[in-house]
Amino acid sequence: MDHQIKTVGIIGAGQMGNGIAHVASVAGFDIRLHDIAEDRINAALATIDGNMARQVAKGAIADADRRTAMSRIVSAPKLEDLGPCDLVIEAATESEEVKRKIFTAVCPHLRPDAILASNTSSISITRLAAATDRPEHFIGIHFMNPVPLMQLVELIRGIATDDGTFERAKDFVASLHKTASVSEDFPAFIVNRILLPMINEAVYTLYEGVGSVEAIDTAMRLGANHPMGPLQLADFIGLDTCLSVMQVLHDGLADSKYRPCPLLVKYVEAGWLGRKTKRGFYDYRGEKPIPTR
Ligand code: NAD
Repeated sequence: MDHQIKTVGIIGAGQMGNGIAHVASVAGFDIRLHDIAEDRINAALATIDGNMARQVAKGAIADADRRTAMSRIVSAPKLEDLGPCDLVIEAATESEEVKRKIFTAVCPHLRPDAILASNTSSISITRLAAATDRPEHFIGIHFMNPVPLMQLVELIRGIATDDGTFERAKDFVASLHKTASVSEDFPAFIVNRILLPMINEAVYTLYEGVGSVEAIDTAMRLGANHPMGPLQLADFIGLDTCLSVMQVLHDGLADSKYRPCPLLVKYVEAGWLGRKTKRGFYDYRGEKPIPTR
């Protein structure tokens, strides 16, 4: 396969990093997967293998493809292991401080022509780019969750992103058989600018006692024809990520309509972050999700 980009580094092997590694390896890219601790990388590899096995069971890919794809993903416990990458996608925790530290640490190990991208849901690409030595080779490549199933990828140019970087990022998205939608660099871009205030409003609806978790989710599934209810979706995204996006909207647009719901803050403070911690608006520890309110 003749890709301009051949080796892709991924920083942050959580649910998004996993998904990006999954689709990019199936598409033929070599992957170097990094996280803060090696056991997280190993856990991610096991998750990716399990998710690919599910695709095999559904007939979406052949078992031989799963094996080849898995063999293309290698663990990169140190940032210097990302040296040979043509593109590095940061998919670490949604915190500007964490991301800035990562960029400062990784840049000296990268080739000057390597593209650096962030999968951030909301943080300014221009501001993140300023923490790197290559703002012109920096871009937002924002995948949706779960990456193997979702068709859309938002592309966000920072003020300095050059045309070559944008075109290469566009080609990369196309080679994953996904559709790119271009967003200007405003807080939370397009999808989350619209989606997260709706989720936050659903949490207010719960907080004010307008309806139970079940009533709110059923109402939006059957009343607005959404494939899943907003609280179920919030658990899926991760409540910490939802809160961070609301904070970015609130700070960045200075409009009180983006005020994060205190109940969302409380769930995050409790460590009830949704599916990834087995508890959020639903409790996932049993056989069936049970509403927590
Ligand atoms: P997650 O909590 O599942 O994973 C984050 C990973 O980053 C963890 O494995 C953590 O160990 C790692 N990490 C933290 N600090 C690190 C560091 N200094 N160096 C290396 N790794 C580090 O979160 P996620 O849902 O995968 O989100 C990751 C990013 O993707 C965030 O920016 C988020 O906003 C964005 N995003 C999330 C969604 C979603 O629905 N969850 C969708 C699109 C984009």
